[in-house]
Parts: sequence; C-alpha cells; structure tokens
Amino acid sequence: MRLSKGAKAPFLLPGSVIIPALCPWSLVLFSVFKKKPSASIDVFKDVIAQEYHGINHRDLSHGSLRVIEILQQAGYEAYLVGGGIRDLLLGKHPKDFDVATSAKPSEVQKLFRKSRIIGRRFQIVHVRMGPEIIEVTTFRGSAENSHLQQANASGMLVRDNVFGTVEDDAVRRDFTMNALYYDPSNHEVLDFVGGYDDLEDGVIRIIGDPETRYREDPVRMLRAVRFIGKLGLELEEETAEPIRRLAPLLRDVSPSRLFDEILKLLQAGHGQATFPELVKHDLLRPLFPQTEALLSEADDPHYQRLIELALLNTDTRLSEGKSVTPAFLYAALHWPQVQHRWEELEAEGHGRTQALAIACSETLDFNQQFIAIPKRFSVTIREIWELQVKLEKRHGRRPDSTLEHPRFRAGYDFLLLRERSGEIPGGLGEWWTQYQIADDAQRRDLIASVKDDQDEPPKRRPRRKSKRRD
Ligand code: ATP
Ligand code: MG
Repeated sequence: MRLSKGAKAPFLLPGSVIIPALCPWSLVLFSVFKKKPSASIDVFKDVIAQEYHGINHRDLSHGSLRVIEILQQAGYEAYLVGGGIRDLLLGKHPKDFDVATSAKPSEVQKLFRKSRIIGRRFQIVHVRMGPEIIEVTTFRGSAENSHLQQANASGMLVRDNVFGTVEDDAVRRDFTMNALYYDPSNHEVLDFVGGYDDLEDGVIRIIGDPETRYREDPVRMLRAVRFIGKLGLELEEETAEPIRRLAPLLRDVSPSRLFDEILKLLQAGHGQATFPELVKHDLLRPLFPQTEALLSEADDPHYQRLIELALLNTDTRLSEGKSVTPAFLYAALHWPQVQHRWEELEAEGHGRTQALAIACSETLDFNQQFIAIPKRFSVTIREIWELQVKLEKRHGRRPDSTLEHPRFRAGYDFLLLRERSGEIPGGLGEWWTQYQIADDAQRRDLIASVKDDQDEPPKRRPRRKSKRRD
C-alpha cells in the first residue's frame, strides 16, 4: 500500500526554523528541526494530516481513545504510538494500541481509578478501560549522563527511568516506523525520525547508531528480524550490517525475556517466514546453539524440515483461530539435539528408553542457560519426546495405555512430523492413525499385524559427526 502524507494548518514550535531544502515532499506542509535530544540523531517534525494517512477512528480501540481524551483534558500530551499505528498505516489489523503521554506514572494513576504501575526497568501504567487494559507509558528521556540511566560493560541499559519530551521519546524507540504518534484530537500523525517515509519505502530502519542501539538492548536485533517476517518489510543496510557481529550479545539477555521474545518471533503467526531470517542473520546460534550446529551440517535436511513443518503447523493453526502450545514448537526446535544425543547414547550401550530419557534431560538442562522454558512447558516437551519411544511399542496392552497418555495427541502429531521430515520412514504414524479410529476387534488385528521385528525402532539414517558448541 502506498502511503501519502500532508499536513493541516501550520504551526511553529518556539525557536524553530523551517528548512525547506530538508523537506522534499510536496505534500508535507512543514518539517521543523529542533534541538537534538540525542547527540547523534537529527530530530525534525513532520505533521501528516488525516486526509493523507487515512487512519480511520473506527479502527482504533475505544479504550485507548478514552484514555487519551482523559489525559489531554487534564492538560497532558497523549498519543497513540507504536505497533498499532504502524500496522494501521500498513493496512494490517493491529494487535493492540499503546499510549504515550507527558504525564508521569503517578499522575496517570491519579487520573484512573482502575490502574496500576508495573515494571522495574521502566515503569508503565496499566489502565483498565471497560474490557480493555491499556498500556500507558510516560515519554522516555535520553539524558545520557543521568544517574537514572545505567549501562553495563557491553553498553546494555540496565536501569532506565528517565522521563522526557515527545521528541526524546521518539528517539528512544527502536525503529523509525515504531515512532509515529497519532493524536486523536486532531487526527494528525507526528513523525520525528522519518518513520512515515520508511514505511512508505518498506524499510525497517533503526533510530540512531545501529551498533549503539543493539548494544543498549540486544533484543532489538530479534525485533528487527521479527518485523521482516511479520510485515514483509526489508532491513535497511546499516540496520542489518552489525547484527551478525553483535548476535552473541543475546547471551547477556535474561533467558526468561528470551523465552517471551522467541514466542513473539515464532509463535505469532509468521514463524515460517521469520525462522530463515534468524538463520540468515546468525541469530539462531546464541539462542539454540546445538540446533544451529546440527542444522548447519547441510548433508541432511531433515532437521531443517522438521522445524519448518512445526512452524507451518503453528502458523496454520493460528490463522484458523486454533490454539497452539509453546511446548510443541520447542519440542521441535530442540529435537535435533535430543535425537542426535539419543543415537549417541544408544551406540554407547544404553537401552533405547533410557537413552531417550537421558537425552531429554541433558537437552532441557543445557538449553535453560540460553532460553528459560517455564516448568509447565518443559514437562510437556519431555512427555512429547518420551512418547516417541512409547509409540514404537505396540504389543499387548501397550497401545491402549499409550493412547490414554494425556499428551498422546501431541506425541502422535510429533511422530507424524518426524516421518514427514524424512527422519524416519513412514508406517508407524499410519498404524497409529488407524488404531485411534479402530474398534476393539480391529485393534486386535492391528496389534496382531505388527511383526516382532516391526516393534523395533524405525531405522534411522547413519549417524554423522556433530560440531558441538557448548
Ligand atoms: P507488535 O505489533 O508485535 O506488538 P510493537 O512494535 O507494538 O509490535 P511492542 O513490544 O508492543 O512492539 O512495543 C511497543 C513499542 O515500544 C514499539 O513499537 C517501540 O516503539 C517501543 N519498543 C518496544 N521494544 C523496544 C525496545 N527494545 N527498544 C526500543 N523501543 C522499543
Ligand atoms: Mg505492540
């Protein structure tokens, strides 16, 4: 979709100058350069009028409009900002709307009875408005030497409670397209960093010096890749350049934050498009080091296919409005390591069931240092994996007890995925498909049809050496 811009009645900020040479768009009424809130970023002000940006009030959340109205009536500045505005401009359906305001968290709280302050690194206020919870953030400042802003040795911000103006707030955001402010009172979009043009050009551009911004918060690298997959936009060259080099900084990010970010990346409807971007920008290695090592041994693509199929399955289910569980996706993402280790342990003389149990424990323990999977999911992941050996056993009462396993369905789906990926030959999955729909007599026939030598592990491909990177 083409975006066009323009502005309504001009006004000037005190002390500012219009520089027409820096304002090449015929439809932009004015572009104003102001003092620089940050040493390295030019901040200007474009005002884009409703007739050009085309945002329709009917597409905005009622709750956030009401919150803004109350804040503005109390004399504060308040705007809709972030992904909601970006998505609307791209003609997509926004997931949520964030409010940014000049009111401090305590001032916001005074205005809304049903509100609470949350967050440590940067305080935000959750305001309940009817059925909605609106996230209200105070404009963030960029006081570089403030004692309230602290960075660690790699440049990562660890404490960040500095308030500022709307211009300061814009330059503290990650990408230019995420720093567009919509004022519902006059329907104008304010752009201080060129986000509107970048959206028009389909470009994801980080605000400020890319390396500094990634060092401040390495998760921005994941967000960059997320927006490629989700929005189909391209990374601007300088925004992309440092990512491969700085990817190891993700190891400094808390493993529990990474768990949440991975879900936003791979379990939000665009996983299949996003995963290859993670690989391309070398972001898989700091997150899933063993999986990355096994995938990069290109002689056998079945691990790659297993993950692609799991992502496709997730995207499809989400597009059909069905539920998805992080356990299934993580079971697939870590399976290369489990399967590889399972084979190794069997070759060392462990029994098949025991070898799998050890491989599961080792894989879950090893990866906790990178991405912290909450217990409720890791229990299910292990069950899905351990079912892979249970599903092989089809004699006597075994099939019936496996069928009653609470995770049978996920384990069976996972087995089908392994077959479709080419890891193991087909047959076992089909047997279970039949078994589930069979009556008692047919079940007895199915059990009888299993020859003794079929109740063995499905033959796998020959083992290859893995590059272990632990
Ligand atoms: P989505 O539609 O997926 O929610 P989003 O851009 O709205 O995308 P949020 O996590 O909801 O993502 O963040 C809201 C806004 O907060 C962003 O648009 C951006 O302006 C700002 N933001 C979020 N994370 C960061 C970050 N790590 N660094 C700087 N700004 C950020
Ligand atoms: Mg959002």
